[in-house]
Amino acid sequence: MRYNTLIMKSTIRRNTYRAIYRLLNKVSPLAGDCGQLCSSACCNCGGDGEGADFEMGIYLLPGEEKLFTQKEDWLKWSAEDAEDYEFPDSWFGKVYFIRCKTPPHCPREMRPLQCRFYPLSPYLTESGELKLILSPADLPYRCPLISDKIPLQDSFIKATHTVWKHLLRDPLIRDLVEMDSREIRKNKKIRIEIIF
Ligand code: SF4
Ligand code: SF4
Repeated sequence: MRYNTLIMKSTIRRNTYRAIYRLLNKVSPLAGDCGQLCSSACCNCGGDGEGADFEMGIYLLPGEEKLFTQKEDWLKWSAEDAEDYEFPDSWFGKVYFIRCKTPPHCPREMRPLQCRFYPLSPYLTESGELKLILSPADLPYRCPLISDKIPLQDSFIKATHTVWKHLLRDPLIRDLVEMDSREIRKNKKIRIEIIF
C-alpha cells in the first residue's frame, strides 16, 4: 500500500480551526509585543527570508492546512512524509512544513498555531491530564518569557488551554502530544515547568 500518497484525516473541521484562530487572535503572551524584548527571536531564527541561517520552520497540525491556499506569498511550503520523521506511528501520509519568507512580518490573523502557542506547550501527565508547560524545546535562540520567567497573561493561558482541550479530541493530535509528553518525562535534563 502506498501510504505516501495519502493525506492524514483530521477529525478537526476547517470551521473549528477557523474558530480556534479567531479565539487566539484576541490573546497574546504579554499585553505588549513580546517581540520587542528579543527582536522577535522565535520568528527570526529561521524562515526563508534574507539572512536566515537555519532551515527552521513550523509543522502544521493535521488538517490545519485547510485554512491555507498554499499560494500565500509569505510562506514557503513543503509536504513531507510523516514516516520519515519522528511522528507517532498512527501518522502516515503528508505533513505540511512551512517557512516564513519575511519574518517577523506575517499576516497576524494567519499565523500558524505553533506560533500562537509559544512559549507554552501541551503536556499530558501519566494519568492523561492536560497541563500547559513552558516549552522545553531545545532551540537555537533564547526566549525571555522562558529564561526570565516573565508572567504570561491569564487570557493567553486560558485560551491556549481551551484550544488544546479541543485539539486533543483528535486522535492524531492526542497521539502526538502523548508521544512528546513521554519523551519529556524520559529526558532527565528537562525540568517541567507547569503553568496551568
Ligand atoms: S515568544 Fe519569546 S522568543 Fe518569541 S517573540 Fe516573544 S519573547 Fe521573543
Ligand atoms: S508565521 Fe509569523 S509569527 Fe510565525 S514564525 Fe513566521 S513571522 Fe513569526
